[in-house]
Amino acid sequence: MKVFVLNSGSSSIKFQLFLISERTVLASGIVEKIGEEKSQITYEIQAPKSIKNSFEEQIPDHKTGMNRIVELLTDSTLGVLKDKSDVDVVGHRVVHGGEDFKKPALIDDKVLNAIKENSALAPLHNPANIVGIEVAREVFGSAKQVAVFDTAFHHTIPQQAYLYALPYELYSSLKIRRYGFHGTSHQYVAEKAAEMMNRELSSVNLITVHLGNGGSITAIKNGKSVDTSMGMTPLEGLIMGTRSGDIDPAIPFYICNNSDTSIDEVDQILNKKSGLKGICRQNDMREILAACDRDDSQAQLAVDMYCYRIKKYLGSYMAILGRLDAIVFTAGIGEHSAPIRNHICQGLEHLGIAIDKNKNEALKSGCRELQTDNYEVKILLIPTNEELKIALETENLLKS
Ligand code: AMP
Repeated sequence: MKVFVLNSGSSSIKFQLFLISERTVLASGIVEKIGEEKSQITYEIQAPKSIKNSFEEQIPDHKTGMNRIVELLTDSTLGVLKDKSDVDVVGHRVVHGGEDFKKPALIDDKVLNAIKENSALAPLHNPANIVGIEVAREVFGSAKQVAVFDTAFHHTIPQQAYLYALPYELYSSLKIRRYGFHGTSHQYVAEKAAEMMNRELSSVNLITVHLGNGGSITAIKNGKSVDTSMGMTPLEGLIMGTRSGDIDPAIPFYICNNSDTSIDEVDQILNKKSGLKGICRQNDMREILAACDRDDSQAQLAVDMYCYRIKKYLGSYMAILGRLDAIVFTAGIGEHSAPIRNHICQGLEHLGIAIDKNKNEALKSGCRELQTDNYEVKILLIPTNEELKIALETENLLKS
């Protein structure tokens, strides 16, 4: 079965084509800057031949972008797809499923309308995902379409953890509550962690730490998400590349009442100008760590704040889990930054957590254990693979 996984943004289409029975990627790529004067198309064909290419071209809209991807993949000299009807199913990443979607869904008009209804909760993401679905339905005609939701894994969070202490009517009328995000990633690494420990997922307690440009941390009890740091939107929780994470909710009012800043500008500040960038002007952790090596005190402050916030969440999630079997690090920073993993784990020996310096700094790829021998809690490094998880979920749904 050939599964085409799509992650559509407001000006981009990211894709991967899987031969899912063999768990192999046939092709992957991204069309960026859709609608701008010059768009960028980058793709890599893995099989049957290995080819990489990147070039500029004007792509005015998503439909042109999708047709261009199909044109590239059906190029007879490459041999990836004979025809677009060769694609059996398209799996879409959909950011917000609200309370409607607790698992992946086969897309029909009713499902598409429900995704549209949830757009108010994710105005930056769902509309772009919807465009991707509409265009793929048109372009791929006969192929089935499946939506896999970032929020779905967190549907097991209990009410005491997902409700905010606001007037209850705000939940009933406006659906204001914690939903959580990065669910596909948290679920994927949790399953891998259970596999690495030779245990059933339903028997393990984990804290999964997804540290990319966005970041979130999830408490998993007996294989199920019971709390997570992102909230109604992906703004809450950890300090991120450009997002503040947790702040006193009175701060936006204080800014508006005491400066010439509008509420929309505060939104921009919290989402785009805060986090690591707000503290030290940079949001790429590689550059921030290089600045720390040059004794840049502002970069060091950003790193200290970043790790402190994660440590605070680790402590609170350990308290609610009772027993902790493993901490899992994943995503760009979690997978690649030994100094950040080390900083977060320092001083936690009294909680049964200690990281081994050599294991942490070893230049190896793939899943591995990082804890000091004889310490109770495992520290696992597990590369996430959201696209593969979407492809597997898509395959599962069709089989069932
Ligand atoms: P992601 O959103 O998962 O792609 O992660 C992106 C982030 O990972 C970037 O902002 C980088 O700061 C970070 N990153 C990637 N490689 C490294 C590395 N070797 N060391 C530190 N941070 C890294």
